[in-house]
Amino acid sequence: MPQLKEFSVEERLSSLINLQKIDSKLDEIKILKGELPMEVADLEDEIHGLHARQTRIEEEINGVTEFIEERKNAVKDSEALIKKYEKDSDNVKNNREFEAINKEIEMQQLEIKLAEKHIKDANEEISEKVELLDKAKKNIATKEGTLEVKKTELEKIIAANEKDEKHFLKLSQEAKANVEERLLGSYTKIRGNFRNGLAVVPVLPDACGGCFYAIPPQKQSEIKQHKKIVACENCGRILVDEELNNNVELK
Ligand SMILES: [Zn+2]
Repeated sequence: MPQLKEFSVEERLSSLINLQKIDSKLDEIKILKGELPMEVADLEDEIHGLHARQTRIEEEINGVTEFIEERKNAVKDSEALIKKYEKDSDNVKNNREFEAINKEIEMQQLEIKLAEKHIKDANEEISEKVELLDKAKKNIATKEGTLEVKKTELEKIIAANEKDEKHFLKLSQEAKANVEERLLGSYTKIRGNFRNGLAVVPVLPDACGGCFYAIPPQKQSEIKQHKKIVACENCGRILVDEELNNNVELK
């Protein structure tokens, strides 16, 4: 039986750092996988909504265009009536008839003016709607561009993911075998406590790299000495000095 190797604190810390780095890679993959499909689905929904908006504006423009055609026809009708009345006025028998015809002509002239006003307003309305339509179309083009990028990204991640995930899962198993059971238990528990999955963090200049709680100089030098495993008083994460943290590199 080979004798069980007694690990130094530094070795134990290095193993933990290694495991943390591997697990963080797995977390990264999970996050990428977890959020991109949602982003793609959201964008697809949004684009669908924008297309509906585009269709609605186009229909509104068609409606106003039809209204303009109606008003133009009304103008033509009034013009035809005026011509007819003018012809009639050549054959009037008395003043009363003449005045009556003149009144009709005046009324048709007013009708034409009113229709022309409607047409002018409707044309302004169309200009505004065309502007809205342009904006909607540009918005759709932008979103579709983003969607394409995200979709491609997602496909790449899914393709790359399988390989990477398998690779890091294997590494994680190997790294776990190098950490004592009790320490591994604490590590797993702490990791589960935080959304970012960080159980082992470097000391930033003067604070915990996980919760930014200040670490007094005395404790900082303890951490650097690698004589015992030190946890953050505030969040409970295992603290390591930056140098040791940087020395552990992922393969
Ligand atoms: Zn902390």
